[in-house]
Amino acid sequence: MLRDSFGRVATDLRVSLTDKCNLRCTYCMPPEGLDWLPSAKLLTADEIVRLVTIGVERLGITEVRYTGGEPLLRRELVDIVGRTTTLTPRPQVSLTTNGIGLARLAGPLAAAGLDRVNVSLDTLDAATFKRLAHRDRHADVIAGLAAADAAGLRPVKVNAVLMRGINDHEAVPLLRWCLDQGYELRFIEQMPLDAQHGWSREDMVTADEILKLLSASFDLTPDDLEERGSAPAERFLVDGGPARVGVIGSVTRPFCGACDRVRLTADGQVRNCLFATEESDLKTAMRGGASDEELAERWMAAVLRKRAGHGIDDPSFLQPSRPMSAIGG
Ligand code: SAM
Repeated sequence: MLRDSFGRVATDLRVSLTDKCNLRCTYCMPPEGLDWLPSAKLLTADEIVRLVTIGVERLGITEVRYTGGEPLLRRELVDIVGRTTTLTPRPQVSLTTNGIGLARLAGPLAAAGLDRVNVSLDTLDAATFKRLAHRDRHADVIAGLAAADAAGLRPVKVNAVLMRGINDHEAVPLLRWCLDQGYELRFIEQMPLDAQHGWSREDMVTADEILKLLSASFDLTPDDLEERGSAPAERFLVDGGPARVGVIGSVTRPFCGACDRVRLTADGQVRNCLFATEESDLKTAMRGGASDEELAERWMAAVLRKRAGHGIDDPSFLQPSRPMSAIGG
């Protein structure tokens, strides 16, 4: 098992398939993009599947989430998903995506066994989308969401980040729209993970603010707290349920004590936390001929060093040198 020194066990693996993205969301990366990893540094599809297999078969991983960058940009995605869903014990397999290209890929991904998707959508307005993501692709995201739903990749979850003065007036309309469509909306507090280091605590729309905005129009009651477990979202029944909304207060309501996540970057580094400053290199060991057992041992040693918390509130907090797109969000 992937147990850390505080007794937490990592069972939820987030795997970044690429650091590249076709959007430039301002809270993530600059309009001109970033220096992408050279392809020789990226794990190949076979290497990804080998590490995921070790995670599932030897180390107790029960959930695999493919992310990025933008995972739909990875050409072998359907193959990687298909090979993951044939592992024993069968892990839950999901995708975090901006939805561009999902209209075409939702069917093949569902056929490959993908269980569900989280699609990022911060606004209902195409002009605001363009301002926020620097690309005119709003309609593609909406079409991607519909295709995911039609393909049965449910529950379709929508991730939204609110930014002050840009889309914070959309909290209520976004929830109303998601309720109408049958999607489960989750708001995520903006975290200090942008490549430009433009995050500021004062500008961040907090979980408290989001709940206040929503409560003006909806009756929110906390969902069973026991059910939350290690889930990052605090969930609320909307107008008595069964529809729900989630709020992920990563900064102001950290949930590190219950964290069960571990990450694998697109270049084969184990990361214990989005905010970790250390990584453990599995790729070099793997390419140097390490056996599955040796890789599993390295992975266990890496997780043992997981820190108690992300420490954003600590005066000594340092933003990680890798932005979200390179870590895998
Ligand atoms: N490209 C995919 C997508 O858009 O979902 C997957 C990667 S993206 C990094 C994963 C999630 O992280 C998205 O929902 C995005 O909105 C969120 N995200 C990116 N930067 C963030 C930040 N600084 N704070 C909070 N969430 C962020």
